Amino acid sequence: MGQNGLDMEIQYLPGVGPKRAELFRKELSITTVGDLLRLYPFRYIDKSSITRICDARPDMAYLQIRAKVVKAELIGRIPDKDPSDPAKDKALKFNTIKRMSVWVSDGSGDMEMVFFKGIKWMYEKLRPGQEFIFFGKPAGFNGRINMVHPEVDPAQNVSKENTPAAPGTMTGVYTSTERLKNGGVTGKVMSRIIEAALDKGLPCIEESLPEYIMKQCGLVPVHFALRNIHFPKDMISLEKAKYRLKFEELFYLQLSLLKQKYIRSRAEHGISMPRVGDAFNRCYEALPFPLTGAQKRVITEIRNDMKSGHQMNRLLQGDVGSGKTMVAVLTALIAIGNGFQACIMAPTEVLAQQHYRNILRFLEPTGIKAALLTGSSKASERREVHSGLEDGSIGIIVGTHALIEDNVVFRNLGLAIIDEQHRFGVEQRSKLWRKSSCGLPPHVLVMTATPIPRTLAMTLYGDLDVSVIDELPPGRKPVQTIHATEGKRPALYKFMRDQIAAGRQVFIVYPLINETEKLDYQSLEAGAEEIMQKFPFPDYKTAVVHGKQLNDVKKFNMDAFAAGRADILVATSVIEVGVDVPNASVMVIESAERFGLSQLHQLRGRVGRGSEKSYCVLMTGNRMSKESKHRIELMCATENGFELAEEDMKMRGPGDLEGTQQSGLPISLNIASLAKDGMILNAARDCASAVLDKDPALSSDRNQLLRKELRKEKYQIKDYSKIS
Ligand code: ADP
Ligand code: MG
Repeated sequence: MGQNGLDMEIQYLPGVGPKRAELFRKELSITTVGDLLRLYPFRYIDKSSITRICDARPDMAYLQIRAKVVKAELIGRIPDKDPSDPAKDKALKFNTIKRMSVWVSDGSGDMEMVFFKGIKWMYEKLRPGQEFIFFGKPAGFNGRINMVHPEVDPAQNVSKENTPAAPGTMTGVYTSTERLKNGGVTGKVMSRIIEAALDKGLPCIEESLPEYIMKQCGLVPVHFALRNIHFPKDMISLEKAKYRLKFEELFYLQLSLLKQKYIRSRAEHGISMPRVGDAFNRCYEALPFPLTGAQKRVITEIRNDMKSGHQMNRLLQGDVGSGKTMVAVLTALIAIGNGFQACIMAPTEVLAQQHYRNILRFLEPTGIKAALLTGSSKASERREVHSGLEDGSIGIIVGTHALIEDNVVFRNLGLAIIDEQHRFGVEQRSKLWRKSSCGLPPHVLVMTATPIPRTLAMTLYGDLDVSVIDELPPGRKPVQTIHATEGKRPALYKFMRDQIAAGRQVFIVYPLINETEKLDYQSLEAGAEEIMQKFPFPDYKTAVVHGKQLNDVKKFNMDAFAAGRADILVATSVIEVGVDVPNASVMVIESAERFGLSQLHQLRGRVGRGSEKSYCVLMTGNRMSKESKHRIELMCATENGFELAEEDMKMRGPGDLEGTQQSGLPISLNIASLAKDGMILNAARDCASAVLDKDPALSSDRNQLLRKELRKEKYQIKDYSKIS
């Protein structure tokens, strides 16, 4: 059978028609029967189970009760009507009524149903003494439970038994919109339309996974899956259907990513760097501390990449303070030891400067020349750097985007290290790539301090090799995290004075979610003013840094704090990444409820770098949303960045995570969730990897279906993680 059943426009389905079809297109981007079949319910309701009113709780996801109407109150009605005479109600001016409150009882208790719309119709339907099934979301109100706009059905339509899910009684709930509902597409109508779409479309759907994989992985056929995802026969069938559809989605995603990785690792291009070199050894021997086990392991991984003859494409993940800079320096020295130059790119000027300063320290014993190039480098410095890069006298160049300008020419660039890569676009990375002069692409090491949950890393960077520094240098003291509200402010100021008296420094960070947000600047300015009043000059010195300042001013203030000339730094989240002031022991985050988890974690990583015990104080308002509260609690409970990232992803979904915001996910998943389906993802990846191990080109007969599926647009993954 052909594809035509799936391509059929939905307007020809019974119950749709041109008007509703237009609504589906506008509201849900659905035009064909095939689209409809892939609109899966986002939850299911077991409509056969009825709860007694006395057992209802406001936190239930939904509630179904069977109850008799006791009375209906119209609020806002014109008073001269006689409420005891229903005949007069015909004359009621319903448009003056604001709200209807219907009291119902099931013998175990009574409950209020509230209506703001469609009152006339409901008022006539809900006659006192009659029994109905009410279905909706319970809510707490004045210590009681009510339901607003419940679905109402006459009681005789539903079985009397209060039994668990009888076959076929689970009903899918589909995404809908106000417009669709107003267009008459209620839950029931939707079910009927989907039913029709299944009848029409299902016969045209061919199995999309090879028999042998379905067997191996215990997957149900696609027809079974699609029928049961919409109309589950029972719980078990529903679970099987979900598993199959999620597995399929994740399997093809992984197959596609792993295949790219396979192809790349087989390609023979890459600069071979067989030596470690003198510079590396001299630096290594002069290190003021032994490397941590994790640092050593990662350097070995990198070293193996660089000598392999293939191009390195490695992501280095490590929590703030885990010692990535050290790894970067040693990696750069390997390139130099093999006769190449290395560049280190940072997302901001402040960070580039800081990297540069740190690196100089370690380079001293090697005699290798390093230079700094940023947007604010003066023309004369710039010229000098340009010529040093061209003649090869500069071994390591540290900088910002200024490095990728066209007039920057290298003698022989062999390695690019990119710090916090999510701030660089694909375009910019490829420009860097072209700066290699030997015809082979430079090795690439991307460093990120934003921990990415493993499931997400597997997807975002599926074709990248990933190294993790999962160990902090020894002697690091944990940062104590405290949550405080406005009432504690005097105590906070006292604490700050004590810390400053002991010689420490304090960060105070204000949220600047939107650079152009006037309010945010106002709160920063007001906050800075208060601090300067409470911590007056000359006893205390306060520096202020924010994004609206001129670069010179920003740098001056930042330097003052870094050099210890200021006790307090009031800043926006510009200091989020990288700034290293070991003597700062207190991080105060204002309006902490407005920050995301990973941002809070990054900020907290600014303290706890020195030998003193450090503190992070999360200031919030008294009232917080449930989610904000949860975030603050997590921050106080753990310092583990990966744990926090996992939680963040669960709460906000992977698309909103730091580091994916700019580029987005490489594909949009239809049913699987990276946050929740880690187990299925693992199984799917193992399976994809086993398939490719046996048949890397997918050329065997039994894998022809895989080849065909991979060609579908859905799996043409935007080349997002490929950084070279
Ligand atoms: P990251 O860039 O990963 O946030 P850094 O490279 O800035 O971390 O390192 C944080 C601090 O730890 C620096 O002061 C650095 O000198 C120090 N450090 C790095 N590696 C070690 C180690 N193996 N032992 C002790 N201190 C270390
Ligand atoms: Mg760093």
